[in-house]
Amino acid sequence: MKYIYLDNAATTRVAPEVLEAMTPYFTEYYGNPSSIYSFAGKSKDAMEEARAKIAGILGAKPEEIYFTGGGSESDNWALKATAEAYANKGKHIITSTIEHHAILHTCEYLEKHGYEVTYVGVDENGIIRLDELEQAIRPDTILISVMAANNEIGSIQPLKEIGEIARKHGVFFHTDAVQAFAHIPLNVDEMNIDMLSASGHKINGPKGIGIMYIRKGVKIGSFIHGGAQERKRRAGTHNVPGIIGMAKAAEIADANMEERMAYECKLRDHLIERVLAEIPYSRLNGDRTKRLPNNANFCFRFIEGESMLIKLDQKGICGSSGSACTSGSLDPSHVLLAIGLPHEIAHGSLRLTISQETTMDDIDYTVDELKKIIEQLRSMSPLYEDFVKKQK
Ligand SMILES: *Cc1c(COP(=O)(O)O)cnc(C)c1O
Repeated sequence: MKYIYLDNAATTRVAPEVLEAMTPYFTEYYGNPSSIYSFAGKSKDAMEEARAKIAGILGAKPEEIYFTGGGSESDNWALKATAEAYANKGKHIITSTIEHHAILHTCEYLEKHGYEVTYVGVDENGIIRLDELEQAIRPDTILISVMAANNEIGSIQPLKEIGEIARKHGVFFHTDAVQAFAHIPLNVDEMNIDMLSASGHKINGPKGIGIMYIRKGVKIGSFIHGGAQERKRRAGTHNVPGIIGMAKAAEIADANMEERMAYECKLRDHLIERVLAEIPYSRLNGDRTKRLPNNANFCFRFIEGESMLIKLDQKGICGSSGSACTSGSLDPSHVLLAIGLPHEIAHGSLRLTISQETTMDDIDYTVDELKKIIEQLRSMSPLYEDFVKKQK
């Protein structure tokens, strides 16, 4: 059976060119880039080229890019190491209510260890309230961490404005850009970003590789202790194939960004328009325009997300309800609650995230099947029956 994969916010397929670029670094140039002999030089040179490529895409310097084990590690590093390094300046951190759990659970950890965290709210479209953000800054605030784009509802945050506020108050600004990097334009200088997390597997690269951008002058220590790799800031033998793969994926994505964004927006908008027009009691979650080109997120009243996903799966369609991290739990998404949805509506959510490989036929097939599934599920719902009776 053919799968229609519409869960690209959870992970993506490794592009054939990416795999091809990686393969020699498993089998031929497998040397440890930290070794002295010239055989290892090949992997070291390739790794430094990869670092420069990624730096170029972000408007950063190569020595400001650190390779990590993924987005979650970068997020943990940014928060915990900043907290530790700047504790004598203050113990207050500001973040948003709609962050990924790699940020939120790290904040909870820090709260248990003597730090205070302010969670700034978002508007009904999932955009951070800038006035609330600025008001939350105190003399002991050391860090603002706000994601570049949300992984559930796709809302794109006003990074430049957040960066300006942070700079004005002398507070560091970290952004979890895992969903945004190589998907939409980002520039660390234009946006006053001091630290940035990105991941390989959300951009058609491999899993288990990520980066952290750390602006020169941010004096945070190591998170993984051991060898002297990554300017002594991140120990552990380099994942050379992963590094090569992530840089190749980023290079391809960056070179085709405008074209891909236009294509994905066209498909996304068609999907949104058809769903809202053809499925009654549906709503779009997240901002209509300030959203990732590949993201659509809906709520359907009188529908339970999980049963919808199972029925979609039976038709070969891969989607998700909330994020991959919360699926399996019965709690509604913290993001949907943060934009003001009541529990019973938040439970009926569906996230469909497309890629450059998705076709218009895939979208039409998905909407056709979704319509039938929702009709069928509602026909079995006593709540819906009551609701329809009351309407008459
Ligand atoms: C996927 C994701 C992460 C985690 O990245 P991993 O590389 O899977 O650890 C963090 N933040 C956001 C916004 C994500 O979408």
